[in-house]
Amino acid sequence: MLIGPQNLAENLRKVRARIAAAAAQCGRNADSITIVAASKSQPAAVIEAAARAGLEHFGESYLKEALEKIAAPAAIPVTWHFIGRLQANKTRPVAESFSWVHSVDRLRLAQRLSAQRPYHAPPLNVCIQVSLAAEPGKGGAAPADARALAAAVAELPRLKLRGLMCLPPEERLLERQRRWFAELRRIFDDLNAAGASLDTLSMGMSGDLEAAVLEGATLVRIGTALFGPRPPA
Ligand SMILES: *Cc1c(COP(=O)(O)O)cnc(C)c1O
Repeated sequence: MLIGPQNLAENLRKVRARIAAAAAQCGRNADSITIVAASKSQPAAVIEAAARAGLEHFGESYLKEALEKIAAPAAIPVTWHFIGRLQANKTRPVAESFSWVHSVDRLRLAQRLSAQRPYHAPPLNVCIQVSLAAEPGKGGAAPADARALAAAVAELPRLKLRGLMCLPPEERLLERQRRWFAELRRIFDDLNAAGASLDTLSMGMSGDLEAAVLEGATLVRIGTALFGPRPPA
């Protein structure tokens, strides 16, 4: 189902209102929270409509699909984030075509991304994905390994370590959603207390963005609340 520009503008308005309400509830400035539109399965024309509606950041999860969209001619330039699972043998096009990678969960990936980042491009912004519940199939470094990994990634010359990302188990209750995000926030605060200068907490999706904002998210990745339900994969 294709989503029209009117729906998109209306959906974006609703997402912004949800972010603003949660931010107000905890005394945060809503401007400190960036929306990354999770645009997997959305065609280039929808991304263009979303850019016209005011979205600047787009997150893609599947590399082949993403590269086709990034290569498509675009009237409005946007910033591309890779938010999916990344295989070590697929790092080069990611290093070449994206501005951000949210799913770095092992040093080998980070080393390859750094080595393959074109010298004329600015450093690649990266987040370390942390697996809070050790769910199989989701990726992410163990919380106990996050500190050593962050220290090693921060040394890589062509990467800029920005922060942490999580994709916690789906929860329906706000309090339970908050517990996962609070845990990522704790790791983030520990790293900064140990001398890192992280500014990004990539957490929260369509179903749990309020909980994420209440726990300090600076970047929320929103798919269905903007674009409607995805077609089955
Ligand atoms: C698809 C996706 C999202 C957005 O999920 P919605 O529930 O549709 O908002 C966020 N993060 C990642 C990593 C995704 O793959």
